[in-house]
Amino acid sequence: MALLTHWKDSAPYAGTPIAMGEVTDPATGEVTTTVPFASTEDLDAIVASARLAAASWSTTSLSKRTEVLFRFRHLLATNADRLATIITAEHGKVHADALGEIARGLENVEFACGLANQLKGEFSSEVSGGVDVHSVHEALGVVVGITPFNFPLMVPLWMAANAIAAGNAFVLKPSEKDPSSSMALAELWAEAGLTAGVFNVVHGDAAAVGHLLTHPEVDAISFVGSTPVARSIYQRGTEAGKRVQALGGAKNHMVVLPDADLDLVADAAVSAGFGSAGERCMAVSIVVAVGEVADPMIAKISSRVAELKVGPGADPSSDMGPLITAAHRDKVASYLDTTTAQGGVVVIDGRDVFKANATGGFFLGPCLLDQLQPGMAAYDDEIFGPVLGVVRVSTFDEALALINANPYGNGTAIFTRDGGAARAFATKVSVGMVGINVPIPVPHASFSFGGWKDSLFGGHHIYGPEGFAFYTRSKVVTSRWPDPATSSVDLGFPQTR
Ligand code: NAD
Repeated sequence: MALLTHWKDSAPYAGTPIAMGEVTDPATGEVTTTVPFASTEDLDAIVASARLAAASWSTTSLSKRTEVLFRFRHLLATNADRLATIITAEHGKVHADALGEIARGLENVEFACGLANQLKGEFSSEVSGGVDVHSVHEALGVVVGITPFNFPLMVPLWMAANAIAAGNAFVLKPSEKDPSSSMALAELWAEAGLTAGVFNVVHGDAAAVGHLLTHPEVDAISFVGSTPVARSIYQRGTEAGKRVQALGGAKNHMVVLPDADLDLVADAAVSAGFGSAGERCMAVSIVVAVGEVADPMIAKISSRVAELKVGPGADPSSDMGPLITAAHRDKVASYLDTTTAQGGVVVIDGRDVFKANATGGFFLGPCLLDQLQPGMAAYDDEIFGPVLGVVRVSTFDEALALINANPYGNGTAIFTRDGGAARAFATKVSVGMVGINVPIPVPHASFSFGGWKDSLFGGHHIYGPEGFAFYTRSKVVTSRWPDPATSSVDLGFPQTR
């Protein structure tokens, strides 16, 4: 069995753990790795090393930083297959999907390679007689990233690439459920020549996070995870005077208008609903069928689901892997009984898959629910599993009102051939990321990612230009070089005219 360590000063750091966690292979149910949970002394030592490193890294030239980022990008690309294997062994997603996660993380590193452009300040000369003004974007210092289990490599890169490019030291507290890929990332940063202490990894659970949130040497917190935790992180972190961005959960609706191509719709709904076993914050969990589309659409979705193979993520013939833990699988499956009890219809029951599964893995087949309504648990809750629900409405306006009344606002999509309807939807919907005939509209790394309402707490979206804005603070310098002979006392407030 593998034993993990933390990562400090560009090297493994054992520390003095307060407990050991167990990491399971979800395809077999076997414990494969133990992970140390940091003591407060360990956390303090790692933050202290990051603080020291931040001082030198923030004054390292932009070209040297860019060089490190380019080398890291190359290492990430050439190690993609090995990294994907690590992700699959602990998360369970299929290898091809893990490669996709790496590709999207790589995109963030590529964006960060353009750091010189992102960190450029502005200059105005002669704002008043002989007075010039310029602005600079300075690093914050020590930034902590707290990440979820479902993208163990991509979400850390959403944060670390820009935070480090901007001149900060970064302390990653990955999910304790699949922490090994963060250690692989740490090794690649070191191999890329990053200054020791700039990228750190500390393992633990809520207790470690609680200590970091109020740590006097921590300047900012980036969090991605479930909404209740995101809300609490935002409240506790800002109370302690930190800059905080906290991205939460989701319930993403995909609207299907009567004019949509139903083969395209069914392909998209199945891919976005069941990819990564539905454990994506941008997964489609509700299809809103407008007018008469529900019955033919459900038939097309069902025929595609019948072709899906559920199995270990390491098996190239599997389309969908297991869920992260047995407890999560059982919770997800419980929504089928709740749906029937609350008046919904179970069209496809994925529990047959785990009844038939002999490997001990945490499998649940794709599930399709119909006739859902607000007020039913399967509609209201973020299930975070392979469960796709259908809500039937009569009009576009009803579909829009349903989405706008939902407390989450991460992603949404509309499927139609009507450009006017698509534009009206994109304009009026209260959701941060919108897809038009695109079911999972995760923005390219040159834009920023973020939901609205209960899907994000804080003023900044993550990665892209808003990432650089979050990880820097601006300073504005006003200067003049007057002739002392012309100087005089003037108690008036300085005017620029
Ligand atoms: P989680 O909230 O349980 O855990 C996220 C992180 O917070 C982990 O590192 C965990 O150790 C830590 N944590 C857990 N409970 C805590 C507590 N009480 N106090 C402090 N820290 C705590 O989330 P998860 O189950 O790992 O991930 C799935 C969730 O993440 C889903 O809700 C999903 O929608 C969300 N998510 C959101 C986005 C997004 O961009 N909005 C992206 C990925 C995942």
